Amino acid sequence: MSSCPFCALAPESAGDDLVAWRTPLAFVVVPTQQRPRNRGHMLVLPRAHVTRLADTDAELRAELYGVVGRVSLAVRKAFDATGVTVFQNEAAPDQVLHHLHVHVVPRRAGDDFRLPAPEKLVLTLDERIAQARAMRAALA
Ligand SMILES: [Zn+2]
Repeated sequence: MSSCPFCALAPESAGDDLVAWRTPLAFVVVPTQQRPRNRGHMLVLPRAHVTRLADTDAELRAELYGVVGRVSLAVRKAFDATGVTVFQNEAAPDQVLHHLHVHVVPRRAGDDFRLPAPEKLVLTLDERIAQARAMRAALA
């Protein structure tokens, strides 16, 4: 889907500064908006444009959630988090991007995490690139 910003990042050659990891079927990117107290939020996505988890096959689900597992450990290391919250929306009322994606959010004491986020910060490109670099190091 040409207008999908996630599909634009899926190919091997695209947006590497913002891609923390690519596997044959999945990839990890740093979202533009993050909760101010949960910086280091990552998105894990299938490289193919899929909109519903129910439309994925067992191979893709296994790889996607295998990557989620690795990322859930790596965000703690990269961003000094004590834990993570993992979630995925499908056609939620406030959802604007419909390429299937799993959120991995680093958690810390007193971060007051809620869904939907009461406030979000638009990160600078430099901060997003730095987060992707920190994740690549933590995943290595
Ligand atoms: Zn897409």
